[in-house]
Amino acid sequence: MTPELAMEIGKALGTYMRTGKIAVARDTRTSGELLQTALISGILSTGAKVLDIGCATTPTLALAVRNHADAGAMITASHNPSEYNGVKLWQKNGMAFLQSQEKEIERIVEKKRYKRAAWDQIQRIERKDATREHMDSILESISLKKPLKVVIDCASGPAGLITPYVFRELGCKVTTINSQLDGFFPGRKPEPNQENLKDLIETVKAIGADLGIAHDGDADRAVAVDKNGMIPLDKQLALAVDYYLSHQKGEIVTTVDASMLIEETAKKHHAKVLRVKVGDVAVAEGIERTNAIFGGEPCGAWIHPKISLCPDGPLTAAVIAALASEGNLQEMLAKIKTYPVERETIGCKEKDKERIVTEMGRKLKKLKPKKTSKIDGIRAEWKDSWVLIRASGTEPIIRITAEGKDKKELKELVGKIKKMLEKEAGEC
Ligand code: MG
Repeated sequence: MTPELAMEIGKALGTYMRTGKIAVARDTRTSGELLQTALISGILSTGAKVLDIGCATTPTLALAVRNHADAGAMITASHNPSEYNGVKLWQKNGMAFLQSQEKEIERIVEKKRYKRAAWDQIQRIERKDATREHMDSILESISLKKPLKVVIDCASGPAGLITPYVFRELGCKVTTINSQLDGFFPGRKPEPNQENLKDLIETVKAIGADLGIAHDGDADRAVAVDKNGMIPLDKQLALAVDYYLSHQKGEIVTTVDASMLIEETAKKHHAKVLRVKVGDVAVAEGIERTNAIFGGEPCGAWIHPKISLCPDGPLTAAVIAALASEGNLQEMLAKIKTYPVERETIGCKEKDKERIVTEMGRKLKKLKPKKTSKIDGIRAEWKDSWVLIRASGTEPIIRITAEGKDKKELKELVGKIKKMLEKEAGEC
């Protein structure tokens, strides 16, 4: 991402919107201010207004768009390493741009047909701190049954501006690590995975905390750890589904790669689950379509539609604390049985990967699945297992993800599918 490209995206966004106000924010990356300034110049050159939120989390920006603007641009590379950066665009309703809208922006950039405002039509920049408003919306909807001792790891991203303060106002005893804003991410990498959360887990153990919370680089995600390590992501999602359905009737949305624990949990509450494509935009669209009460991906990107259609890390963290405050977290976790998961990748030619996945949809019929779906790649379901075959978006590989109740049977099933795929890829 270069400042030139950031300015062109700003010009294209202003041209696309024709009029109105565009909210802009950035995470803590060293290139953030540079790119934000360029992007804002681009927007202003088209005659659109700018609402500058400054450094903030992605869900803070999305909420500010919904409350005060007509579109938004967030400068972030999310969970990616510190040298990366990018721009994610937001609609008036607080949902990320759809693929068709992104394509339209790309088309304007390619053709360079930008609107240019006359000197007397150029607008000023309005500045606003939107974090307090975001905090209040979380505090209005969440309360804890008992105060908890919590360690919060903000990755040195913009979560440091909000999550520790939300938890303090929820009545928790808060200890923070990596809460200083720093674009070098000196404490840990921005991806909240087991390897990067060692310090958090150690701190939770050392001070006897009830819970540890970690965010990614822009805090649209939150994951939880306890003294035993990172809580399996499928279990976290199942706990959230159980929490929501215990308090409210309604539908749940999740992605094709999530565990069958989600259906099992929803079934206990006689609730339906809608499976959608991987990615928060598909989850948000699914929520809008079904009026669902909650939607989540296993990576910790959870959407709480009462507040926003953007995955909200600080709110997710508060929801995890709320459910943990309703009893004994260890007992709750012990009640959820997880199933073995198998993951494999198969190399193939870039140009063939989509065709191979489609072909596998036909070939899988030999294994007599109970159900198959083409929502995102091919997903086949048997009584006690499922397999997802997807072409990677960025590499010349095909990924197999599978879950089953019996480890041996699952290994056999994945072995058969891997052979079928290798044969198909070899023939290309
Ligand atoms: Mg993110």
